[in-house]
Amino acid sequence: MTWQQRYESNLMNTFGTPKLLLTRGEGAHVWDADGKEYVDFLGGIAVNALGHAHPAIVEAVTGQLQSLGHVSNFFASEPQLTLAERLLGLLGAEGRVFFTNSGTEANEAAFKLTRRTGRTHVVATEGAFHGRTMGALALTSKAAYREPFEPLPGTVTFVPYGDAAALAAAVTDDTAAVVLEPIQGEAGVRVPPAGYLAAARQACDDHGALLWLDEVQTGIGRTGAWFAHQLSSGQGVTPDIVTLAKGLGGGIPIGATIGLGKAGALLEPGNHGTTFGGNPVACAAALAVLDTIVKDGLLDHASALGKTLRDGLGEDARVSETRGEGLMIGLELTVDAPSVVAAAMAHGFILNATGPSTIRLVPPLVLTDADAQSLMAAWAAILDASEVSA
Ligand code: PLP
Repeated sequence: MTWQQRYESNLMNTFGTPKLLLTRGEGAHVWDADGKEYVDFLGGIAVNALGHAHPAIVEAVTGQLQSLGHVSNFFASEPQLTLAERLLGLLGAEGRVFFTNSGTEANEAAFKLTRRTGRTHVVATEGAFHGRTMGALALTSKAAYREPFEPLPGTVTFVPYGDAAALAAAVTDDTAAVVLEPIQGEAGVRVPPAGYLAAARQACDDHGALLWLDEVQTGIGRTGAWFAHQLSSGQGVTPDIVTLAKGLGGGIPIGATIGLGKAGALLEPGNHGTTFGGNPVACAAALAVLDTIVKDGLLDHASALGKTLRDGLGEDARVSETRGEGLMIGLELTVDAPSVVAAAMAHGFILNATGPSTIRLVPPLVLTDADAQSLMAAWAAILDASEVSA
């Protein structure tokens, strides 16, 4: 039996059959079962912040597991306490953290938190992706994801992303929260116009609603800042809720719902819970990620290398637009994006298409200059090959 047949016989068909069976990784490189090497520009979908098999994560996880692997939320652990303190410090505000195991769970907890305002209406945006559990799905706009599972909870108004006036018009005195990705990820790396987050903050303040920023994809250095709302384009906006996951654990599952100011006190004993959330091993991995980002200067590295990639890849005439910040990059193509992904794979590069003409790059923050140069050197040949195969 091939591995594909084993996959198809034993795993639910929620993702389609994968293209490769990967067996090991190092830095931004992975190898498949045939020994072929790839440079990984997807990074586990913006998760492997430190790449693959990073010694700091291996050491942190191994060391923690050797002393205390899991305790449940009946007990505290040192990594959990330290991680909460560190995240609040990076956000530069008073608040409280609830740890989860994934992005959708972080958003689920945040959604419940917003109900504690006594209001139920939420404003979300077209193109948004917040996860697949029922609550997060209610805030996710794509009809194909939502419709098979309706009715979904909540009263949700979707407004066009980036349109400050439409957002302000949708917020009322019944609105519990406005939920936004500071840069939309699954929609193909959509950067809102300058002033958008500030306008959202103002609309929330005008009606006593919470501003909830979903930084599951954009957070933890991805955009060259700790959080995308801290980029200069974020204009110093302070949200009420921040949700995190993906890069936080560098590949070990962990998410966080962070309530800032009064929002940190809305969930009370008995309101919410999770068995694994805040697990010491996951928190130790996250601390290793944060420490390594600081020690290796990965925020500046992500900003600089992202610009190099956007400029270099954007030079080809078949790239009609480049978008993004840091190592969260969207490329709009005049050729078929899925064919480009297939051609790139044949050339030894893992890329991702978020739509028929859109490529997303969210590589490890430890991607080297040489890794970036290798894609830029092969780019024209990859695009040529995609046109032949399309
Ligand atoms: N929120 C955003 C912005 C995301 O990009 C994602 C995943 O792509 C999620 C939430 C859901 O996270 P998870 O897949 O860990 O549940």
